[in-house]
Amino acid sequence: MKKWIFLLIIALFAAGLAGAQDDEFASERIRMVEKQLERRGVTDPRILEAMKKVKRHLFVPKRVRGLSYEDTPLPIGYDQTISQPYIVAYMTEVAGIKPGDKVLEIGTGSGYQAAVLAEIAGEVYTVEIVKPLADTARTKLEDMGFTNVHVRWGDGYKGWPQNAPFDVIIVTAAPPEVPQVLVEQLKVGGRMVIPVGIFFQEIYLVTKTESGIEKKALLPVRFVPMVHPQKGKD
Ligand code: SAH
Repeated sequence: MKKWIFLLIIALFAAGLAGAQDDEFASERIRMVEKQLERRGVTDPRILEAMKKVKRHLFVPKRVRGLSYEDTPLPIGYDQTISQPYIVAYMTEVAGIKPGDKVLEIGTGSGYQAAVLAEIAGEVYTVEIVKPLADTARTKLEDMGFTNVHVRWGDGYKGWPQNAPFDVIIVTAAPPEVPQVLVEQLKVGGRMVIPVGIFFQEIYLVTKTESGIEKKALLPVRFVPMVHPQKGKD
């Protein structure tokens, strides 16, 4: 056999092996979508498709990878967590995202929710206050080929004024009340999905109207607090 044919066969075999390993969780992911999302009433086909596609196991640390498709949040370091898959789906569905929408996420964390949002929205802007988390998420999302996610290290209480106004804002850390600056960065008719509260928290759907906002409490939850930055941070 010619040497180059032999090398080609080896290369194809290695690529196939890497591909298989990369998605060893494919069936678990489909089961997660059926059992944890569809059975609980998530119906938007775009969200179900996105969550069948985005590999949650690549967003969690190796030591908890085996739990990637369990019905639970998981630690991602720096005292932070990646949200439970159902909560990601629920918040995304409640936000009523349309194709082409400009979305702001506060609390990039692992980057998983940003990836799910990027599958169904136009552009996704996401802000994270812990620098190593922001950097890791940015690199991962770039490596995965997402060109419509923009990650910024900074204070989410300030939103992302240069890209405002947004059709949708999703906040994945809990402030004690709805931050006014974020309301200002929402389009009229735009929606914000946000957990609010210190100990008892609820997810609220906040809709911006011509005359102010409408707030609706939806679901009791437990998120990490939305923190104010230490000195020196943006
Ligand atoms: N959406 C994430 C989960 C986020 S956990 C995911 O899919 O993995 C909440 C994140 O909010 C944490 O990473 C935390 O560091 C971040 N956070 C807390 N306060 C913040 C603030 N003021 N601005 C931006 N990010 C903040």
